Amino acid sequence: MITVSSLSKEFNHTEVLKNIDLQVNASEIVVLLGPSGSGKSTLLRCLNGLEELSGGRFEVNGIGVDAAAPRRTRTAAYREIRKHTGMVFQQFNLYPHKTALGNVIESLLTVKKMPREQAVPVGRELLKRVGLAEKEDAYPSRLSGGQQQRVAIARALAMDPAVMLFDEPTSALDPELVGEVLGVMRGLARDGMTMLVVTHEMKFAREVADKIVFMADGAIVEEAAPDVFFEQPQHERTKKFLRQIE
Ligand code: ATP
Ligand code: MG
Repeated sequence: MITVSSLSKEFNHTEVLKNIDLQVNASEIVVLLGPSGSGKSTLLRCLNGLEELSGGRFEVNGIGVDAAAPRRTRTAAYREIRKHTGMVFQQFNLYPHKTALGNVIESLLTVKKMPREQAVPVGRELLKRVGLAEKEDAYPSRLSGGQQQRVAIARALAMDPAVMLFDEPTSALDPELVGEVLGVMRGLARDGMTMLVVTHEMKFAREVADKIVFMADGAIVEEAAPDVFFEQPQHERTKKFLRQIE
């Protein structure tokens, strides 16, 4: 579903992603771990064209992007990829002047040009899926952080994505609200969604991930099944990281 090959990324001649190879198969949950500044967000952002890659290539849902291809070819590919990819960030970025339902159906109305009467039931179903059926008329300012993030997830699901990318979706939340968002993500995993998740929630990573990928200094240091990763880390850098988060 996602294949990354020799991907590199430079900012001002500094290489922040180095020769990244990564595979996420259909219905797999891959958790990306690593210290601050290791390049996790940049990698996710490259995958849906929020950042341009400097070298290498990748494929999302069969759509290829190659650093060597002409820019307009890549731009067209990013546009296609975004249609099939849902992204959820640390900050929820909901439209403040739209209700929960309004936020969820926005892309159906504007991107898919769906008539409102057709979009509304789809939006209601998605709000139900994230446990917020009763909040459809609430504006974001009246929702808790956890509820806002669940609306953001429902909004990402509205485009019926083949892949979901999560960048620290619970990092901005009060501790007591983290569980409800992780619960929704567990539900998606059970439903067979393909997910690439950056998180610091180690318990979630351990329980839900099919594979853990550990990055440091812009490179993939180690990848393994969760049990192996947490019980028998191979590299000194990984061991140090795991000691620090204990
Ligand atoms: P964190 O855990 O803190 O979110 P991260 O692993 O997501 O960290 P990135 O945000 O991907 O790390 O950053 C990787 C490196 O790229 C860092 O050294 C960062 O300073 C640099 N970087 C990121 N975005 C830019 C940018 N727009 N311009 C210049 N440098 C950038
Ligand atoms: Mg980040």
